[in-house]
Amino acid sequence: MKKGIEIIMNLMYRSTRGSGNAVTASQAILQGLSPDGGLYVPETIPQLQKSMKELSKMDYRETAYEVMRLFLTDYSTEELKDCIDKAYDSKFDTPEIAPIRQAGQAYYLELFHGATIAFKDMALSILPHLLTKAAKKNKIKEQIVILTATSGDTGKAALAGFADVEGTSIIVFYPKDGVSSVQEKQMVTQQGTNTQVIGILGNFDDAQTGVKNIFNNAELGKRLKNAGYLFSSANSINIGRLVPQIVYYVYSYASLYKKKQISEGEKINVVVPTGNFGNILAAYYAKRLGVPIDKLICASNENKVLYDFFESGRYDKNREFILTESPSMDILVSSNLERLIYHIADDDAEKTAQLMKALSTQGVYEISESMKANLKDFVGGWSDRQQTRDAIRKLYHDNAYVIDPHTAVAASVYLDYTAKTGDQTKTVIVSTASPYKFADSVLDALQTGELPKDDYEQAKLLSKVSKTGIPKAVEELQSAPVVHKTVCETGNMQEIVEKLLKII
Ligand SMILES: *Cc1c(COP(=O)(O)O)cnc(C)c1O
Repeated sequence: MKKGIEIIMNLMYRSTRGSGNAVTASQAILQGLSPDGGLYVPETIPQLQKSMKELSKMDYRETAYEVMRLFLTDYSTEELKDCIDKAYDSKFDTPEIAPIRQAGQAYYLELFHGATIAFKDMALSILPHLLTKAAKKNKIKEQIVILTATSGDTGKAALAGFADVEGTSIIVFYPKDGVSSVQEKQMVTQQGTNTQVIGILGNFDDAQTGVKNIFNNAELGKRLKNAGYLFSSANSINIGRLVPQIVYYVYSYASLYKKKQISEGEKINVVVPTGNFGNILAAYYAKRLGVPIDKLICASNENKVLYDFFESGRYDKNREFILTESPSMDILVSSNLERLIYHIADDDAEKTAQLMKALSTQGVYEISESMKANLKDFVGGWSDRQQTRDAIRKLYHDNAYVIDPHTAVAASVYLDYTAKTGDQTKTVIVSTASPYKFADSVLDALQTGELPKDDYEQAKLLSKVSKTGIPKAVEELQSAPVVHKTVCETGNMQEIVEKLLKII
């Protein structure tokens, strides 16, 4: 990484499917998805403007500014710094925000120190601020209403991010009998005058379909606008979630450099437990930004669509959906992969549109040999339930370090990768959730004997075993009052929204 001449041009964003004009970063954040169904990508990938030495002297917030200003060029210095200060504050339980911890041969980048103790907080704590600034810049007068269907984690992280953010409100639908008791407790106790949480009598797909129908109802859209509201989503395809995730790859490299664990320019590998492909895509952008990353190792659970894709060049979602102990990675269509497809096709939007059409009509597509050649930095791996549990137990026994089942998928894939290749490159394993979020599976894996039924008793046992303190987020759940009690039939979701917004 060299210190270049400081040239920051106005970076514009285009759809991966090509039609339509380029938009500014703030417009891309407001729109989320491009009108042609594609995802917004930067027209060029910027380069880091600071040396590793300079970066290693920065704290998380300063690093965030240094990275985000390269991508979000239509935000002023003041606007961006304001968003960053509001996001990465005492909501995180450590001033490091994203601490890195060595255990065994690898470094674990802990992205679970935010309000909901999982990595979604890294992006969802800043998205609301980027969004409200974007609305102001683009002279949008309406209040932004975030509508989200959640299978558990995203809903809570979005609620925590948007709670009491001026100019926004948020309505979250979750399957009443389809989330864990901790996840439900986390949501129904959410404070904030602008938050609403509704359980539906159906599964996650029903919730998602209901939300999509509300979004696509043009007549409702008109009435909303007249009443001064505008719907938006906090979806992980939004560049307002992607860009903040690039930050911690720069930060972790700089931290290792600062701690003299690596020398300047030394390449590292990263292993990312992957679902929707957002987190690992951020690592890919960090690499293109100039961070010396060698291999991007994509770790999947039994829903190993991505592993098969990296092996064969064929993406095939026509398969059984498997429920695993790493539920946030139980995904058959990884939306953010579309951005990588676009880049490995040398930014060919027509080709990308063709492949995505094949995916939606046949559930399958296959990339060309030249695209495959552009994937050489990626390695796919996967881990089944037993291997994942073994990885949790092994790390605990060897290093007294306890990880959650998502992180353990990555740890297992890493062990497998080094055994197969002998690759000794220093490696960062991205740690996406606190073990306290999945205490039952973790305790099971550690074979601590009979599992206490009560969530809090499980947390206490985990605390004893791992010799770590119970996170504030878990502690608070104990006494938090339930404030959201509405439950509805899937057919009544729109009516509920209309009532909440008082437009009927
Ligand atoms: C969302 C999530 C993932 C998957 O991340 P993607 O960006 O969707 O690939 C992994 N682990 C946890 C704990 C998550 O919440």
